[in-house]
Amino acid sequence: MIKTACGLDCPDACGIVADSEHFPKVVADPAHPTNNGALCSLLNKHMWEESRITKPRVNGEEVSLDKALDDVANSLKVENKLLWRGSGNFGVMQEITNLLFKEIDGTTSKGSLCDGAGDAGIIAGRGINRILPPEQIAKAEVVVIWGKNITVTASHLMAYIEGKKIVVIDPIETPIAKRADLFIKNMPRSDFYLALMLTRFVIMQDHEDREFLEEFAPEYEDFYDFTREFRIKAILEYIGIDLGIMGELLELIVDKKVVFLVGNGVQKYSTGNFVLQAIDALAVTLGHFGKEGCGVAFLGNSKLGFDNPFEIKGKKVQKATTNFGDFQTVVIQGGNPVASMPNSSRVIEELKKSKT
Ligand code: SF4
Repeated sequence: MIKTACGLDCPDACGIVADSEHFPKVVADPAHPTNNGALCSLLNKHMWEESRITKPRVNGEEVSLDKALDDVANSLKVENKLLWRGSGNFGVMQEITNLLFKEIDGTTSKGSLCDGAGDAGIIAGRGINRILPPEQIAKAEVVVIWGKNITVTASHLMAYIEGKKIVVIDPIETPIAKRADLFIKNMPRSDFYLALMLTRFVIMQDHEDREFLEEFAPEYEDFYDFTREFRIKAILEYIGIDLGIMGELLELIVDKKVVFLVGNGVQKYSTGNFVLQAIDALAVTLGHFGKEGCGVAFLGNSKLGFDNPFEIKGKKVQKATTNFGDFQTVVIQGGNPVASMPNSSRVIEELKKSKT
């Protein structure tokens, strides 16, 4: 038996045990803190339903490993070469290719196509983006699932939300929305305004945690003034809800232990940083930080405090705006720029100009 980790690009990073005699037989590592003894359907699908690549291929043709390596080496001899790595590769070892590109004077990519905007918003507010431990979710009374389809993208969290009051905020009626005590179907791109309106109502109705605010956010009255710059009726119409729904939601989150589980979709805009900052501000107003069973969970920085040996200086381009056509050779690792970068047609045209 070999103890290892799931190779899919997923934050749970489940521990797995592989049976070396009967590969690909794998089971969940019971010692892993979050997988609750089970692996998800995504891994099972990839293990059993996807065809496996067992031989190197060049331009779709199977070739020997020596030929494949020669072709790669030759394509890296050009002057302008780029290593473009997708966002979300959690395994540090995947960054070892940085060292190769440093040696051959290549360009690497920086920034994020995944959670970068939300991360920036959280850092602007809190100063640091820590991961909320799942044990705190287990201690909550109410779980607000905000733009996150957890039955698919974080199925191991299901065990932690068992028996809680569930609020789902999502433009789409996901499977978890069907099980929620309250489902708010808001309009896309309205999350920022919903968080602002909730904060305004919390303060208007004297439900703010004044002691917490005076200690950690003494300028909160300025923020309250900012929330009052928006007309309630027009903003609620824009969000797609009415005062009755706002009242139901407030009743569920005021004076309770509440955890907010926030998905990536809410911040995939040029102003996405403000969405996470506004949701954080709502939680701060309710005093939901630094207490058992409370907090805002977003993709935290999994490398916080880690001295990464593969961090290199040198030429870098932004992932979101890379001009692939500027390079003679492009190496794409762990990502699909056509699907994940803005303006897919532009990306396809750019990629046609280089050897990929
Ligand atoms: S949840 Fe699924 S995809 Fe994610 S690490 Fe665990 S087994 Fe892998």
